[in-house]
Amino acid sequence: MSFLIKYPITARYLPKPSKRRSGLAMSPGVRFVVAHDTGNPNSSAAANVKYYENSAQTQSASAHLFVDDHEILECIPAVLGAPEKAWHVLYNTPTDNQLFGFNANDAAIGVEYCYGDKINADESYRRYVWLIAYICHTYKLDPAKSVVGHFFLDPQRKTDPVTGLAHSRRSYEQLLRDVVTEYNACLGKEPPAPPVVEEISGMAVSTARLNLRKGKASTSAPISRTLTVGAEIPYTGVIRKGEAINGNTVWYRTVDNEWFWSGGVFASSH
Ligand SMILES: [Zn+2]
Repeated sequence: MSFLIKYPITARYLPKPSKRRSGLAMSPGVRFVVAHDTGNPNSSAAANVKYYENSAQTQSASAHLFVDDHEILECIPAVLGAPEKAWHVLYNTPTDNQLFGFNANDAAIGVEYCYGDKINADESYRRYVWLIAYICHTYKLDPAKSVVGHFFLDPQRKTDPVTGLAHSRRSYEQLLRDVVTEYNACLGKEPPAPPVVEEISGMAVSTARLNLRKGKASTSAPISRTLTVGAEIPYTGVIRKGEAINGNTVWYRTVDNEWFWSGGVFASSH
């Protein structure tokens, strides 16, 4: 399927070989994307690449792409050319290996978000989200599982891109969701319809220890409380297509928007 090209990506490659750009091919190829911010409010994509160029022989840190409200610059081949390694996450952090099986520097594209009062946050964010989705499409990565923030890999030293996104009034979780939405939209896929809640009320009695889940008919939602066997719990809604457990997809909702699986209760409606 063809992916909607919304923005140009411009190559402005660093000298090779240099400390910042080794020219080494990514091995084993691109497996995930690391979301960064520049940590330097108001520095543009062009200014960051210029700084990299001027210090390419003396400093080693690098990333593949910089995004601001005007342009997307690729300074180490990532999507325009055969992907090369960049030095954007310390090798001795273990989380990238645990999550993806590889060091980020060997198998991940690093994308830098430019932000600050002089940068249009919405425009910069749109390009950033689109670019990450586009990288996922280019390398056949699942956009819901293949994007991670630098702070998540190196929590002792880093806060990006949380800091930059906060500057743009957005959260990391929002970014992860928006990348998936953008990915689907650029492929022309309709967003999945939310499950329909039927407003039916009644009383249920738990037949097992019963977890109530906050906000969503899914075991991935946080547990708000657990009921003992024989507890009475009123419900105010039902969905027929929640998460399947033992093939049963019916869940009930309480007045506090907690959800519990119908397989754990006797229910009567009124
Ligand atoms: Zn970073």
